[in-house]
Amino acid sequence: MKLKEFPEDIRKYLIPEPSGRMFYRCIECKREFDIDQLLYVCPSCGGLLMLHQEEEAKIQGRNGDLWRRIFDYRRMLNFNPLKGIFCYYEFIAPIIPLEFILYLGEAHTPMVMANQNLESAIGEPFYFKNEGLNPSLSFKDRGMACALSFLNYFAKKNNIKDLLTICASTGDTSASGALYSAYLTDFIRSVVLLPKGKVTMQQLLQPLGNGSTVLEMPGVFDDCMKVVEELSENYNVALLNSKNSWRILGQESFAFEIAQDFDYLVADKVVVVPIGNAGNITAIMSGFLKFLKANIITELPKIIGVQSDHADPVYRYYLEDDPSKQRFEPVTVRASVAQAAMIGNPVSMPRVIDLVREYNQAAGQKKIFVIQVTEQEIMDAMVIANRNGHIACTQGGESMAGFMKAIRGGIVSKGEIGILTATAHVLKFSSFQEMYLSDRFPPEFEVKPKKEFKNIPVLVQPDDLGGLPQAGESIQREALDLFNKATAAKIAKILHLKKR
Ligand SMILES: *Cc1c(COP(=O)(O)O)cnc(C)c1O
Ligand SMILES: [Zn+2]
Repeated sequence: MKLKEFPEDIRKYLIPEPSGRMFYRCIECKREFDIDQLLYVCPSCGGLLMLHQEEEAKIQGRNGDLWRRIFDYRRMLNFNPLKGIFCYYEFIAPIIPLEFILYLGEAHTPMVMANQNLESAIGEPFYFKNEGLNPSLSFKDRGMACALSFLNYFAKKNNIKDLLTICASTGDTSASGALYSAYLTDFIRSVVLLPKGKVTMQQLLQPLGNGSTVLEMPGVFDDCMKVVEELSENYNVALLNSKNSWRILGQESFAFEIAQDFDYLVADKVVVVPIGNAGNITAIMSGFLKFLKANIITELPKIIGVQSDHADPVYRYYLEDDPSKQRFEPVTVRASVAQAAMIGNPVSMPRVIDLVREYNQAAGQKKIFVIQVTEQEIMDAMVIANRNGHIACTQGGESMAGFMKAIRGGIVSKGEIGILTATAHVLKFSSFQEMYLSDRFPPEFEVKPKKEFKNIPVLVQPDDLGGLPQAGESIQREALDLFNKATAAKIAKILHLKKR
């Protein structure tokens, strides 16, 4: 819709001007640092950082109704910089001039309702929010759009002509970082560090295709993370892991969208999300809290984090209810189909601990839960979801398995509606689905496929014929007719088709 066709009172808000000041605040010592330098940890105590705005009070002061109208009208605006995560510009990074914003088609992912069949099997209504429909096929693009928009602005402002981005990854951060870095190829070179053999072939091919330097090392993600931390502390590189607090800001858009998609009524919603490095659950809590403080929503939804029993440090932490007795212990991970979340020492854990406390306090009751599921439950859920028309990855299956367990455990009440995060596209993790459908899981995963879901290609080849079609060779006309008839007959027999 053209700007002049919007209601007059809303026009002046639709295309925002950059304003105010943003700064990093250390979550440990609370010191504040200007954003004129690239920081990943507190220079004074090494704590994690979160980004804040000086005008938080001003933003919260505008009434909730006006914000809701701004966002709802903005969705109708044909203006690229505000089409993705920056639809919520004022709540993300209102210091970035619009001309520096990258938009590669991320965000505003669809929510797809479970059909009757699936709802009956699970017991409550729910949606999958398909984060796999982002440009690099995972939710990581939300954070990357923010981090790279900021880097774009930062580099131009400081006349930086050559910048190296680096990240460790379980597969999707590198795919996303490589894609967004490639868009800024005039001044960015991208490097990704992967645990060898611990990302899928599809995920490995993504950064290669986008021109990144791909480094593989032995070990698991946690080992790669240590190496890039060492690099980012001692060399001149830009870190793209979720330790980078610009990523967290961008991922908050996930919460904003859920609020907007339900006309800002989220009190009866249950958002379910897998936890790996814990960046996403951090962003979701932070996002809903911001909308609550600005009166855009009036109540907070429940949030359920899910972990596999092969990588469950956050779950173990919250097994203890008494905060004075809670102790964080990293775990040694085991092979997991939820490979993108196979992390034993989540970087954002200190952020999670703070935000869970704040969230429950703001809600006036416990609204954050962490649930543990088995590898078997994850795979069964993924396969059942996709047999009912979804495109869930293994981590999406993990969300669904967690939701099922939460219903059984009484955490989800009657009438509540689930929003399950399918964090990536099924095709990125199709190798696990294939192992399930063909019953070829290596024993360390501890997955035994359900027989009724076995599904492998069926070869149709008539055996009593002389000539078969082959690549590069044509068969004679009569032979071809014979072959077609015989093949059709064989298929009709397999499918028990009745003759017309
Ligand atoms: C990164 C990732 C996760 C884990 O998210 P965190 O923010 O690290 O907790 C889950 N699923 C997929 C597909 C991912 O790429
Ligand atoms: Zn500090």
